[in-house]
Amino acid sequence: MRITNQREIILEELRRLKSHPTADELYEVVKKRLPRISIATVYRNLERLSEAGMIHKLEYGGRQKRFDGDVTPHCHVVCVKCGRVSDVETVPEVDAEHLVVDSRGYKIFDGVIQFEGLCPKCQLLEEKKIN
Ligand SMILES: [Zn+2]
Ligand SMILES: [Zn+2]
Repeated sequence: MRITNQREIILEELRRLKSHPTADELYEVVKKRLPRISIATVYRNLERLSEAGMIHKLEYGGRQKRFDGDVTPHCHVVCVKCGRVSDVETVPEVDAEHLVVDSRGYKIFDGVIQFEGLCPKCQLLEEKKIN
């Protein structure tokens, strides 16, 4: 894959952010360095980068796609209210192969475990609603 300067900057900014941004959120950041870039260009580059396996595309049922510059195997927790995505520390010795009890002959080499919950901000909002 040919790395254009734009694509390099998009990749660089995505890797720097730990927030798993949506394309729109990343666009706001990239725009500061590339004032003339369009949202369509950001979208296109994110698709290409994810096809090339250089970034991960996160799709959680019906929500806006998010992107992760960290392609090492790790788990996510998703806030069911605001859609915020955070990395989850996993137990190092538990790899995908050992998590699958009955893999019916498959050789497992990768897997995605997703947790759902409420982020600290939404928990506060919930508490306020109750009180
Ligand atoms: Zn939340
Ligand atoms: Zn992540």
